[in-house]
Amino acid sequence: MSDVTAFIGTGRMGAPMAQNLARKANALGRRIRVFDRSPEAAALCRDAGAEVADSLEAVLDGADVVFTMVPAGPDVKALLMDAGGVLDKAAPGALIVDSSTIDVATAQEVASAAKARGFRMIDAPVSGGVPGAENATLTFMVGGDTADLETVRPQLEAMGAKVVHCGPSGMGEAAKICNNMVTGIATIAVAECYAIGEGLGLDPKILYDVVSTSSGQTAQGVNSPPVKGLSPTSAVERDFAPGFTIALMLKDLRLAQAAAKQIGQASPLGAQAAEVYALADGAGLANLDSSAVYKLIAGKLKE
Ligand code: NAD
Repeated sequence: MSDVTAFIGTGRMGAPMAQNLARKANALGRRIRVFDRSPEAAALCRDAGAEVADSLEAVLDGADVVFTMVPAGPDVKALLMDAGGVLDKAAPGALIVDSSTIDVATAQEVASAAKARGFRMIDAPVSGGVPGAENATLTFMVGGDTADLETVRPQLEAMGAKVVHCGPSGMGEAAKICNNMVTGIATIAVAECYAIGEGLGLDPKILYDVVSTSSGQTAQGVNSPPVKGLSPTSAVERDFAPGFTIALMLKDLRLAQAAAKQIGQASPLGAQAAEVYALADGAGLANLDSSAVYKLIAGKLKE
């Protein structure tokens, strides 16, 4: 076994995650090597002490642990299973940890393909967003064998505050998708709450006081109400700069709908929420924080 961890995909989440790994590399007894198809993205990790590879082959060279953090299911599948991809180039027996948020079926498919080639693989998507990645307070939801999780637990704990073993392959993604569906629905509920309250002439500060301490309390309502002057952590205080974007929320709600469909489970609120975020996406809000769905709900697209 080597002491090299390869980290592929150093975007908004991957870069701070890999930086935290690299800063703790000595304590972990690991060398951290990163690669992104955007060299600028990979270079962000150099100051934290990561080695920056200029190709997939170079990042994988001798690595016994391989993290992947790329946008969506098709990206994970291509990265791993395309000719010349990770399954062709990784060191024999390497443990692959995919932290991307993807559909359960693809997570299980790539894990099976990896295992058929003699690798080990777990899904380990995260919750906590960019602040959680920066502050190493992410929650990892892990699907796969206990022994594989235990092998990388110290590295997960270097990037996160909580690691939950959710079951066999794909169950980390299942937990992530179910959780984000609740978040997506709650974000819309909070937007409707303020739109109706304001319309009735209710002072938003009073509404905040009530809703953040009563039965309507949600993390979204407390931490990211969509009206200014209520919470310093709100995305509205920075003109809805993300945070977790409308585009990503739409992606995750569609994953939840696909999962529900796969098993024949009705999910009426999740379906409606996906439609609302699709409208917000189409209205030009894709790259704003998901709480900006309020602009659509309250008819404030031009503000
Ligand atoms: P991002 O688009 O900022 O970063 C993805 C990176 O992957 C990019 O730098 C891209 O160049 C790189 N990449 C893609 N394919 C590659 C390949 N084949 N080889 C090398 N590099 C490749 O995305 P992100 O916001 O960091 O999100 C990553 C994953 O984390 C997504 O699945 C997302 O749903 C999930 N997630 C994001 C957040 C968030 O708040 N941004 C929170 C939780 C989970």
